[in-house]
Amino acid sequence: AKRGTDTAVVARRSGQRRINLFDRSGLLEELEEALIDGSLQWHWQPKIDMRDSRVLGFEALVRWRDPRGNDVPADHLIQTVEQSPLLEDFTYHSLDRVLEQFAALQGALGHATICINISARMLERSGFVDKVTECIARHGVDPLRVTLELTETALIANPGQAKRVIEQLQDRQVGLSIDDFGAGFTSFGYLREFAVSEIKIDRSYIRRFAESRFDQSLVNSLVVLCESLGIPLVAEGVEDARTRDLLVSLGCHAGQGYGICRPMPYDDVRHWIERWNGLQSAA
Ligand code: C2E
Ligand code: MG
Ligand code: MG
Ligand code: MG
Repeated sequence: AKRGTDTAVVARRSGQRRINLFDRSGLLEELEEALIDGSLQWHWQPKIDMRDSRVLGFEALVRWRDPRGNDVPADHLIQTVEQSPLLEDFTYHSLDRVLEQFAALQGALGHATICINISARMLERSGFVDKVTECIARHGVDPLRVTLELTETALIANPGQAKRVIEQLQDRQVGLSIDDFGAGFTSFGYLREFAVSEIKIDRSYIRRFAESRFDQSLVNSLVVLCESLGIPLVAEGVEDARTRDLLVSLGCHAGQGYGICRPMPYDDVRHWIERWNGLQSAA
């Protein structure tokens, strides 16, 4: 706790640089606490059909305010967790919390699904499939309405094992999405090896979309590929109407982004759906 106080002083003076000054064990100690006291939150961001604005689902995104009141960026948090012994506890905690919340909202959600980010490293952990399906069943959720988004900051070390796990998840009707497709370590090899149920094009291809012939051609090819493979394609990072319209005209119909709706606290979701559906039927 003493170290925490010192860090707080440094934090106020140095702003953003605070993260670099943090010693890793300090962050992990606090996170371990957070897993117990329930202070991790998940914000929900809608994914819609951009043709008719129908809500297809929500992605749950972790939010954490550390004990000094600073918001820790999700990707920093996840990178730290992935390299720590907390990865399993964090993952099962996130599944439990998000599925509990999803179950409580199910009546208001229509056919919308829930997408939960999972570190690719979890595919190598024994008992993963059983624990996922047990958690889904415990909350009385239909596995068809659950998609795991595979995020990774490292190459999958054991593709054979990952493939088996993905097939088992599919057998149990849990969806699997390849996140940030085209960035980092993801590749076309994934599509050949793994039976995935969704592909999310990385935001970096969508950001300058309206100006970039290259990015448009790439999305165009992905649309053709996904159509022939029967895999839904999702654009993430849709920030404006022009990008949205262009994506739709190229055949990419599902989208997520600040231009549609920012991630929101769970407590706002019910009200947001009512308003959103009201706006659509008034239009
Ligand atoms: P991601 O799964 O690719 O999630 C999309 C990220 O882009 C989110 O950042 C979201 O807030 C942000 N975003 C959404 N729309 C827009 C947009 O229009 N423009 C821009 N610039 N950004 C947009 P966030 O919440 O900071 O999460 C960052 C990453 O951290 C996620 O990327 C995911 O890889 C990871 N992550 C977040 N929550 C979890 C979690 O509970 N578990 C795991 N394993 N990873 C998580
Ligand atoms: Mg994701
Ligand atoms: Mg993504
Ligand atoms: Mg990402």
